[in-house]
Amino acid sequence: MRTITVPTVQAGHAIGVDLGGTKILAGVVARDGSVLRTHERATPQDSQEHVLTELEAAVAELLDDAVAAVGFGAPSPLEDASLRDRMRERFGLPVGLDNDANAAAIGEWRAGAGRGTDDLVMLTLGTGVGGGVIAGGKPFRGWNGAGAELGHAVIVENGRPCQGACTGRGHLEAYVSGSAATASAREAFGPSVDAHGLVRLAQDGDAKANELLDDVGRHLGSGIGSFVNVFGPQLVVLGGGFGVAAYEHLSGPVKKVLRREALEPMRSTVRLARAELGTAAGLIGAAFVGFEALDAA
Ligand SMILES: [Zn+2]
Repeated sequence: MRTITVPTVQAGHAIGVDLGGTKILAGVVARDGSVLRTHERATPQDSQEHVLTELEAAVAELLDDAVAAVGFGAPSPLEDASLRDRMRERFGLPVGLDNDANAAAIGEWRAGAGRGTDDLVMLTLGTGVGGGVIAGGKPFRGWNGAGAELGHAVIVENGRPCQGACTGRGHLEAYVSGSAATASAREAFGPSVDAHGLVRLAQDGDAKANELLDDVGRHLGSGIGSFVNVFGPQLVVLGGGFGVAAYEHLSGPVKKVLRREALEPMRSTVRLARAELGTAAGLIGAAFVGFEALDAA
């Protein structure tokens, strides 16, 4: 008997664009999360208008007839409506936009460490600490689309001042970001050792480096313990450059504190995992934000 191939509805591809501080990473992504081709260009530093034209150029570079939607993951200050309207007009396709931390969480959920899970929390430890929550099979965005700013959860009352524009104190970000780890490393080992150098020293068995990363891990565990109690996820994913590099050193103390702070039944069931997609998480997640816009159209 011959197999007759029934033409199915063309699911289409989406272009996902991850706008970073130094690079624009774009890719064509299929519904199963596989990346078919990518394109990279530098993020202009002179004006927002120049950033927008480079985002357009990145999309144009990848566009073909199979592309049915475009999604962007961008730092929150980028003006939402203008970017979306402009891209919709320029390409005549449904356009989605989300913040970069949500995009990374969506990427890991659809195609990485969180595949098959409906409830997860992702923390991206880099320059800052980004947070993304998938709850009941949907990205959590809040009423204003800002998502869950988990990095600005208070873990120490009146503790260390937070970073950047944040006026708060004792926020998770001030203790567990790559920048915070770099500050501790410089204090202990001098100006040439950053967060990644600290991880290398710990791997080589340096006691002080291990102690510092243990301290980061315990603070991270405090934050994660609270997030587990609040959101009840099945999985917590640690990503970001520092989060991935230091995972082996952080996971022990995180789990130890988590066992103390999390309530049952989450304490026994929640899993911790290292992000799997590396720098591609943002563009894959952004593509799924594009699919979301397509499906809603
Ligand atoms: Zn803060």
